[in-house]
Amino acid sequence: MIYLDNAATTRLDDEVAEAMAPYLKEYYGNPQSQHAAGRETANALLSARDKTAHIMGCSAEEVYFTSGGTESGNTAVKGVCAARGKGHLVISAIEHPSVLESAEFMRKFGFEITYVNPDKQGIVGVQSIEKAVKDNTVFCAVMAANNETGVIQPVEEIGKFCRGRGIFYYCDCVQTAGVLPLPTQFCDGLGISAHKFYGPKCSGAMYIRRGSKIEGLISGGMQERGFRGGTVNTAAVVGLSAALEKAYANADKTNKKVAELRDRFLNRVLFEIEGTHLNGDFALRVPSNANISFDGCDGENILFLLDLKGVAVSTGSACSAGAVAPSRVITAMGYGAERAKSAVRFTFGKYNSESEVDRAFEILKEAVEKIRAVKS
Ligand code: PLP
Repeated sequence: MIYLDNAATTRLDDEVAEAMAPYLKEYYGNPQSQHAAGRETANALLSARDKTAHIMGCSAEEVYFTSGGTESGNTAVKGVCAARGKGHLVISAIEHPSVLESAEFMRKFGFEITYVNPDKQGIVGVQSIEKAVKDNTVFCAVMAANNETGVIQPVEEIGKFCRGRGIFYYCDCVQTAGVLPLPTQFCDGLGISAHKFYGPKCSGAMYIRRGSKIEGLISGGMQERGFRGGTVNTAAVVGLSAALEKAYANADKTNKKVAELRDRFLNRVLFEIEGTHLNGDFALRVPSNANISFDGCDGENILFLLDLKGVAVSTGSACSAGAVAPSRVITAMGYGAERAKSAVRFTFGKYNSESEVDRAFEILKEAVEKIRAVKS
């Protein structure tokens, strides 16, 4: 299989798997236990928390292990709302559903929401955030980079603005962790997810700035300093910290390789297949992402034909009730349904090779020609 869906998830790195293995079998004590078996895993957690904090650029007490990006987004939105009781939320229209749907959930409890659209390049400008903010705004969410387009957002400016207004700023860093520096100093909360940087699934971490007004969501245990009850998955946390450490240690090399693969593919698509358009800013994007619309095609049809030939990609379209809805991210950027429905996301990773990229291009070209021939 040629796997070009690395924004959805990545293959577990062998070294990370090795680091985790002892905590799946040998060291199985509950880190809360008062005996030696418990102390062993508690020490592993301590060390993983220290490593994670060091990379995040915060103190160990500001790191909370979670099950991933979805839980972190839920915790940020609902936790701040629970602590504040009432108010207004400013949410970028291109956030992950974990943030968007949490905000909608809080509407039921009287919270008001303003959604902020990006521009045609996929960027949510600080000025549009400033315009959306009201006297009673308590929370703002703008992600570090969008999961569909890979477009990098001006989080430093947004964070500084929110800090000046006393607004809790949550930055979903799921698509940039291990790739770009984490904007910890500019936000009040951020979330990362290990399976996006060659770590295990269902393993995430959240930074929450000391002194923030936020409630935890999961009651019933003193784990994570009483903020998130439930026995911590030691192996998953060890895996997260090992994957994070390795990703940042090799980031320059990996980013260069991945961007070269992506550009090799993207240039061929844009120059050799007519009627193709890159979605989102050309330069301000994570190295892995090429989101391309194909005139006269449905992204879903391209996905199916590529899948038949062993190439894995994704679209931003959502299937509901048997119909395919166009990508809401590309629609929010101001494009029509046709462009949004014809978008396909190709995301490259460190395990891809040039020959895979070239083969995927040939398969894609054939698929697009086939779809267009049927339609004409
Ligand atoms: N946020 C973003 C930007 C994502 O891309 C994803 C996953 O695709 C998530 C959150 C959810 O992360 P997880 O799969 O760890 O719940």
